[in-house]
Amino acid sequence: MDQHQKAPNLDSLSTINKDGSKFNIHPADVKGSFTIRRRLTAWALIAVYIILPWIQINGYPAVFIDLAERRFHFFGLTLLTQDFWVFFFLVSGLAFALFVLASLVGRVWCGWFCPYTVFLEHLYRRIERFIDGDAPKRRKLDAAPMSSSKAFKRISKWGLYIIASCILAHIFLAYFISIPKVWENMRQSPGEHISQFLFILAFTGIFTFCFGWFREQFCIILCPYGRFQSALTDDQTVTVFYDDQRGEPRGKIRKNDTSEKGDCIDCRRCVQVCPTGIDIRNGLQLECVACSSCIDACNDIMRKVKRPTGLIRYDSSAGINTGKRKIIRPRILLYLVFTLFGLGALSATFVSKAKPFYAGLTRMRQTTYSASAEGVRNTFVIHITNKRNRSATYSIELLDSEHAGLNVENRTLEVSALGNDSITLSVLSPIAEYNGPLDIEFKVTADDDSSQKLAARFLGPNPSLYKEDISQK
Ligand code: SF4
Ligand code: SF4
Repeated sequence: MDQHQKAPNLDSLSTINKDGSKFNIHPADVKGSFTIRRRLTAWALIAVYIILPWIQINGYPAVFIDLAERRFHFFGLTLLTQDFWVFFFLVSGLAFALFVLASLVGRVWCGWFCPYTVFLEHLYRRIERFIDGDAPKRRKLDAAPMSSSKAFKRISKWGLYIIASCILAHIFLAYFISIPKVWENMRQSPGEHISQFLFILAFTGIFTFCFGWFREQFCIILCPYGRFQSALTDDQTVTVFYDDQRGEPRGKIRKNDTSEKGDCIDCRRCVQVCPTGIDIRNGLQLECVACSSCIDACNDIMRKVKRPTGLIRYDSSAGINTGKRKIIRPRILLYLVFTLFGLGALSATFVSKAKPFYAGLTRMRQTTYSASAEGVRNTFVIHITNKRNRSATYSIELLDSEHAGLNVENRTLEVSALGNDSITLSVLSPIAEYNGPLDIEFKVTADDDSSQKLAARFLGPNPSLYKEDISQK
């Protein structure tokens, strides 16, 4: 084992020295089918992160959290502040989907899809590899005294980290203010958009600190997802396992050694490539992010010593011990029900919110009705929110007004793009026609013929007492 590499154990974290200081882990390079698939997945995810703010749908970026206007644009759907409750279904649906994933395949989210891992492993560690060399060279450089060559490498590496973080921070800002606005800001003095400038400074600093120095400690110490893994997994959960029945007793291959040995040749290659510095042969551990590097590393060794691959593999504890695997279990079904409930409610909400406008009705404040010799009058206010990014004209009519003997002037209202406005409507029931309170219905029709009906109650006095009272005046 390399003299600067720690021997992992179950009693202490590999990333922390005895004195509490941080121990820098330098995972060795690994090649293999899982590594290739993981790298392709990471590149695809980074491409999505970069491209999304550039895609325009209905005049807005595909994903745009417009804080200034308090709107959320999501692939052509616009959610306003009053739609905030939708996020309950979004968050709960996604959380339970993650529960299903964790119960089925452990921390595969962490190792393959989590943005933190994607940026750390496939961008920042690549920069480090490019400047400082492979793992032994990096450890040697860490241990070496400061020299002009070490200083040059440190400055180059941290300079590239800062540039990468600055670019990521600008893209992140584009999700809140749009790409054209970011570009406009970049050509102005910081003083003209100080809050956005501070945003960039803060996130450049956070990204540089997390991906350049803090690294895997975020997953081990801070991230809550890893903490409640044990509550989500069981012995049927598929994750990265060492097959101890096949591997033990481990031992190096030695000439003339006749003792009975398992397939593990104790080469420690699986430890050298682990980004969290653990030894998977000690069993499932909190630090394991299921990245599969140790699988590729061990498969490579097994091929070299001409033994079957899969000594470390994706399997369940039950699969390793009994050879029996079960995918559908009560907890999976329960989590699935919750997931479908959350995502189903979310989809239904999206469909209903996909309407081009909202209309709402209230009664004129501090009035129920007014009764005079002319008749009984109710006043309503209709509020319209235009969800299109163009102005629209709405006509409002009272349905069945002739049948009910009501007089109302049909009205129109123009509402600006993504704006809202209201209109007051006075409805009169002439004294001769008035027969007491009744249910009425308004219809709001947009200039594209989409429409919405609004129910209301027309209120008034007792008709016989009212007519008698009026006739005596
Ligand atoms: S890489 Fe495989 S053979 Fe080598 S120590 Fe790890 S489990 Fe054993
Ligand atoms: S034990 Fe294997 S799968 Fe788990 S983090 Fe280490 S290398 Fe990745």
